[in-house]
Amino acid sequence: DPLTARSNADISQADRSRVFHSWSAQGALAPMPIVSGSGSVVWDAEGNEYLDFSSQLVNVNIGHQHPKVVAAIREQAELLTTVAPAHANATRARAAEMICELAPEGFEKVFFTNGGADANENAIRMARLVTGRDKVISRYRSYHGNTGAAIVATGDWRRIPNEYARGHVHVFGPYLYRSEFWATTEEEECARALHHLERVIQAEGASTIAAILLETVPGTAGIMTPPKGYLAGVREICDRYGIVMILDEVMAGFGRTGEWFAFHAHDVTPDLITFAKGVNSGYVPVGGVIISDAIAHHFDDTVFPGGLTYSGHPLAAASIVAALGAMREEGIVDNAKRIGAEVIGPRLAELAERHEIVGEVRGSGVFWAIELVSDRETRTPVTPATMGAIKAALLSRGLLPFIADNRIHVVPPCVVTEAEARRGLEVIDAVLAEVGAGEAA
Ligand code: PLP
Repeated sequence: DPLTARSNADISQADRSRVFHSWSAQGALAPMPIVSGSGSVVWDAEGNEYLDFSSQLVNVNIGHQHPKVVAAIREQAELLTTVAPAHANATRARAAEMICELAPEGFEKVFFTNGGADANENAIRMARLVTGRDKVISRYRSYHGNTGAAIVATGDWRRIPNEYARGHVHVFGPYLYRSEFWATTEEEECARALHHLERVIQAEGASTIAAILLETVPGTAGIMTPPKGYLAGVREICDRYGIVMILDEVMAGFGRTGEWFAFHAHDVTPDLITFAKGVNSGYVPVGGVIISDAIAHHFDDTVFPGGLTYSGHPLAAASIVAALGAMREEGIVDNAKRIGAEVIGPRLAELAERHEIVGEVRGSGVFWAIELVSDRETRTPVTPATMGAIKAALLSRGLLPFIADNRIHVVPPCVVTEAEARRGLEVIDAVLAEVGAGEAA
């Protein structure tokens, strides 16, 4: 088989000669070959097995090669592989219906996109059209995607070289471990972050703000579960000033936090919900916006000036129907919640006690961050070199990690078994001991 017969070196060489990679200087890359997977493990071309504690880009919630999803894609491919968005298609309608069934009351329509960035792009567009306003407030610690408005709504370094879209304002969100508000309790952090948000709205001019766009739980930025009351407070502010509340559930949604939607744990209902990743675990690229009735009805007699050739692609739709069906039947979201509460959470708390290098652990479900510091008092992040050494040590022990800044994100698929979760955490424990000893020396 030409796909599996090649060596790791051959695949790397083929990649390096022709593939231009994301977010990188191209010169010194060494991408790791992966040729197949099953559940929570992947293999390279030489049969080396890795426990996937990254879920790739935190999207393979249902695990690799789920047979029901693979079969559904194959069946749909035999029936109709592609159809223009303007036609009616039963698989697409069923996918939209299943997504709406998971959303709160009052969300009746889905606009499908190619991924998460254009989901946010279109949610922002809807908010601007509905309010007749321009500005969008989002957080400094956030990632919303790599297109016009989505990358400028993003808070991290990737925004800065791409800052061409207008009308974007950023605020700090609650993050007690590195509080921007001199807070010492979650209550203080929450109240002060809300006060800061409201003051920014007033200073910008409330009547200019179309939307507040927030990841329900900031993901790549560090998995900061919002304190109790923060999102409800944002909801109140949005209502007070006539601002559309958009929750980005691209990474946090569809089981990752142990809930179907992360906001289910926060007693809040947004106006627009954006999704991608976990909805079909990325088996076919897809994303979308779940639209509240009031906003959907705005476009009953007014043209929505947006569309994509592949909006509601049938292969993507078939994979959504199968993935959500299997996640329901197999209790996959409950598994994520239980593994988080009974295995990952307690074990990470133990690691935090034992390893001086661990500054904080936080998360829920299969969505956790281990924040590493060289000094617990000053909370100084460990260096990129230390993170590089940690990544290499984890890989050499068969664990494929998700590393972001000074953090290890513990983000296995939602189907991860208790034994796999324990095995992965043992590897992390061993590597922290080894690297921690090096740091102390
Ligand atoms: N929003 C969040 C919270 C994400 O984590 C991501 C991707 O990592 C995106 C949006 C962008 O999604 P995509 O890469 O599918 O465009």
